[in-house]
Amino acid sequence: MDQRHILVTGGAGYIGSHMTLALLEAGERPLVIDNLSTGSRAVVPAGVPLFEGNVGDAEFVGRIMDAHPIEAIIHFAASIVVPESVTKPLAYYGNNTANARTLLDCAIKRGVPHMVFSSTAAVYGEPERTPVEEDDPTKPINPYGRSKLMVEWMLADVAQAHPFSYAALRYFNVAGADPQGRTGQSTPNATHLIKVAVEAALGKRPGLDIYGTDYPTTDGSCIRDYVHVSDLAQAHLDALRYLRDGKPSITCNIGYANGYSVLEVIEVVKRVSGVDFEVRIKGRRAGDPAALIASNQRALSALNWTPHHDDLEQIVRDALAWERRLG
Ligand code: UDP
Repeated sequence: MDQRHILVTGGAGYIGSHMTLALLEAGERPLVIDNLSTGSRAVVPAGVPLFEGNVGDAEFVGRIMDAHPIEAIIHFAASIVVPESVTKPLAYYGNNTANARTLLDCAIKRGVPHMVFSSTAAVYGEPERTPVEEDDPTKPINPYGRSKLMVEWMLADVAQAHPFSYAALRYFNVAGADPQGRTGQSTPNATHLIKVAVEAALGKRPGLDIYGTDYPTTDGSCIRDYVHVSDLAQAHLDALRYLRDGKPSITCNIGYANGYSVLEVIEVVKRVSGVDFEVRIKGRRAGDPAALIASNQRALSALNWTPHHDDLEQIVRDALAWERRLG
């Protein structure tokens, strides 16, 4: 095995901490960069070095790369809240787009050959068809999606100009927690639906607001494709293997090709938790497309991705178990 390291930016965060565990289990040597703005030191496994700082700080990143040979970067560190991106666009273009440019510049200067990039279904905007395929038009409808799409463009240009290949994984809605209970979503003031719903079920917040029931969907609430965080981490391992095999850069949706409405998700959380928490119907939230469902054929065939947790009840059970653990 290659003795170089895998650099995980945002490795103290929700998805990054699952990734670091998956890398360790696969016999890899992860290093974590995290500024701990939303992440937590506690979810970085013992023995994994954590460098506290910003991926947009070229000197800091350069020092780490000079001291540790890096085979691939898995780049999670980013801001991820769609409505916040609408009110703070420059923060999103700074943290997501400009910082990725700095990170890439450091990587290319040192000959790092690969990157797996956290992209998002938000690059599609309101898809013209569902399930949406990777070559369908990218017309993001919020700054978050645009901030990530710009990074995809940078990656494509960099891979043309340098000995470098990448996998851009367009995540649909990531949820759940490590089935063994080692990590989960700890972010304070979380805004994502399943996290908010399990907090409501456990009495950590006074119920839940539904942002719009007047969308052109079956029950009027938005439809999303919820993917278990452990399957998502596995997709990154598969992408890493794919790039190591010398295959060309690739962009893949990561989802189950299966959509649930907000009302359906709430129903499952109520059933699994046994708690009938309060739900209030509110107006639409800025930046929300009506429906996002992945076509996942490319990930299944090109990356050989095999999901093991394609089950909304399991996603909710694991999220609830982690939420209880957080106390
Ligand atoms: N949502 C909601 N109430 C909440 C959080 C989310 O109704 O407290 C809805 C949101 O409007 C969207 C869906 O749930 O239609 C998924 O939103 P989330 O923030 O989880 O992920 P996004 O799709 O924005 O990345």
